[in-house]
Order: sequence, then C-alpha cells, then structure tokens
Amino acid sequence: MVKTYHIVTYGCQMNVHESEKLAGILCKLGYVYAENIEDADVILFNTCAIRENAENHAFGNIGALKKLKKSKPNLIIGVCGCMTQQDNVAKELHKKFPFVDIIFGTHNLDDFESLLNKRIASKKTVIEVLEKEKAICEETPKFRTSYPNAWVNITYGCNNFCTYCIVPYVRGRERSRKMDDILEECRHIVELGYKEITLLGQNVNSYGLDFNDENVTFPILLKKIADIKGNFRIRFMTNHPKDLSDELIDAMLYSDKICKYIHLPVQAGSSKVLNLMNRRYTREDYLEKIEKLKAKIPNISITTDIMVGFPYETEEDFLDTLDLVKTCRFNGAFTFVYSRRKGTVADKMDGQIEESVSKDRIQRLIELQNQIAKEISLEYKDKVVEVLCEDFDDKKNMYLGRDEFNRMCYFGSGENLIGKFVNVKITKTGGISLTGELV
Ligand code: SF4
Repeated sequence: MVKTYHIVTYGCQMNVHESEKLAGILCKLGYVYAENIEDADVILFNTCAIRENAENHAFGNIGALKKLKKSKPNLIIGVCGCMTQQDNVAKELHKKFPFVDIIFGTHNLDDFESLLNKRIASKKTVIEVLEKEKAICEETPKFRTSYPNAWVNITYGCNNFCTYCIVPYVRGRERSRKMDDILEECRHIVELGYKEITLLGQNVNSYGLDFNDENVTFPILLKKIADIKGNFRIRFMTNHPKDLSDELIDAMLYSDKICKYIHLPVQAGSSKVLNLMNRRYTREDYLEKIEKLKAKIPNISITTDIMVGFPYETEEDFLDTLDLVKTCRFNGAFTFVYSRRKGTVADKMDGQIEESVSKDRIQRLIELQNQIAKEISLEYKDKVVEVLCEDFDDKKNMYLGRDEFNRMCYFGSGENLIGKFVNVKITKTGGISLTGELV
C-alpha cells in the first residue's frame, strides 16, 4: 500500500522551501502527499520561532494529534525547524508530547531520511538536534509546490545579530551556496517551465561575502541568472538596508526579467531604536537608500517590515516611524508588535513596553499604511498590468497572480491560465489587491 505524508509549515518562505526538501525526501522514498492530515502515515511540523504566537500555535497543533496517534499507532509524527533548534525545546517537546517520534533541528534537515529510517528500525523516539551548522548539502531532492514560482536558496544563516532576532542562533552563521550550483538549479527550473525564481536568503545582499572573491557578489549572481535563456521573472528576498549597494540597484536595471520590486525591512524610523536593534544603519541612511532606489528606478515598488513596541521606544520614536512611513510611501508593509525571544539581547533589556501601548501604536501604524496602500492602489485604475497567473481562488471563483511589482491581482477566465503571463485591465482598486479583466 502506498504510504502518505502531510507537512504543516509555519513561518517564512525559507521554511516553505525547506518543507519542499522534506517532501522531496519523502517522495524519493515512495510516499505521496495526503491532502488530509488524518490520512497521512507521516506528519511533519516544520516550525518557526520568530514570534511567541507562532510557537504557541505549533505546540497547540502538535498536542491536538495525541488522539490520532492513539488510534493510529503506526503514524510517525516529526517536529523540526527553528523552534526545535532552540536550547531545551526538543527536551520540553518530548516531555510534553511523548507521542512525537522524531525531533530534529534546522542543521540536520537534510538528514531526515536517515532519521526516519532510524525511527522505523528502532521504534523508539529519535531526537537529534545538532549544535552547529554543517556544510551545505546540494543533494537533497525537492518536491516543489509553488508552481509557477520556484524558491532557490542562495545563502543560509545570518551574521547580523539584530538584538530582537533568534535567527542567527537557530540557523547558524551565514553560508553562501556556490554560484555554479545556484545557476545550475536556476537553469533546470527554467527548463522545467517555472516562470518565476525567487532567490532566498536572510540577507541576499551579503551573498558571497564568505568567499572573499570580488567575482562572487549578489549583483553579479543576479545578472548571470537573468542571462539564462527563457521567459521568466526573478525576485529576491530579504534585503538588509545596510548592505544594499549601488551595484545592486544598477543590476536591477540590467534585465526586464528582474522585477522592479524590493523588500527592504526598515524595522523602525528612529535612529535611537535602530541602534538598540543593532541594525547598523540610521534613519537617514535608510531614507538615502530609498531616495536612490526611486531616483534610479522610478516605477519601483518597495515593501518593508516595521516593528513597534521595541524596548525603550518612546512616543517620539514611534512618531519618527510614522513620519518615515509617510516619507517612503511603501507599497506594502508587514507590521508587527515586538515579541520577546529568549536568548536574544533585547529580551534582557530593561524598558520593555507595555502591551497596551504597543497595541495602540500598531493600530495607528496599520491605519496609516493602509491609507497609503489604498492611495497607491487607486493609481492602478484602468491601467493594463502584466500578471503571472499563479492560482485559482475557489471562494472568489477567479484566477489570481502578481504583477512585476508584487501586487496581487484577481481576474476571471474560462481557461486555465496558471503559469501564463497575461495582461489584465484593472477595473477595481482600493484594497491590498486589484481586480480586473483580461485584455
Ligand atoms: S538580518 Fe537581523 S532580522 Fe534578519 S535574520 Fe539576520 S538577525 Fe534576524
């Protein structure tokens, strides 16, 4: 009988892509995907540790499987990812949920096949969380689930140690993949018919720094990928403002394949708070980069991440953030309330902000950003945009996709257009997405 699997993924695109690797390993072993979690023979939770509520969510969902495991004793449940990589979490998980069969971390995700075999052979719980990162493994198969988009890692880990962030502790130091390996993967993806490549790294701008070779930089990589023959787009994320170079801005103009879109997390609009966050740029530095981007690429779309309620953030600091948002007029922003993470520098800071104050600030920030996004969206009315059709929304009974600027667009069609570039005339604007008709 065919064995089946189901993977629950929390967090960022990095995790989504790592789940594609876990799925690749399972497919290689003959497993097939089960839509319904209850039908699966192997269930994996690929977790996130960036915010406390993501962890609580994962704990809740793992706990909810206790009954299922009782009724299906051969079911194998695995938990991995950033949450399990933290100190003592694996132990805590095992104590709280002894029915979990395999617990592993971010550094040994590529070893999942042997961990699974070990569990099947021993019938005992397997807990293996490596302390340190290993060399990059290029052999892990991938079962891609995001057609027509394909995720491609270019770096792993992070060296930046922003004071609020757990990533460098759970994903290790920054390691770049060899340029030839990335190019080969991209060529293969294009040959397979994918229409969008999204390059992934905690900070793609510092790609290649660990090779200490002036011919291995992110702008050079970007241009080489753009030189691959075929009809496809290139996106990349995430960018650290301190490393955004003039060369990269120029490289974005090198080819129409490179989307004129950048996600540039600012986090705060006050230089004092940015310094406390160890972001290593000031408000002025950031604004200067935005000005440069807009001057060189006039139609560029810029999105950002903004955090409120960081320790010591005063009302004045927060007003600086609102002011920066008004100046930059971001096309979109992911807004968050600061979440304390054990083991980080910020967690030990005095000056933690009261929840009610943070809640009030996030509300005001969201209102401002929504207003700006709405105004920008109105500019699209009656325009024709090229959209890469990505999916079909059953609820709206419409296809959806994104334009070069990462704006979501809905449209109707009697024909399946997933994976095709289509022109859409925008008839309805105003929200975070656009609606239009095929032309
Ligand atoms: S750059 Fe900062 S926020 Fe981003 S992953 Fe690294 S430490 Fe975390």
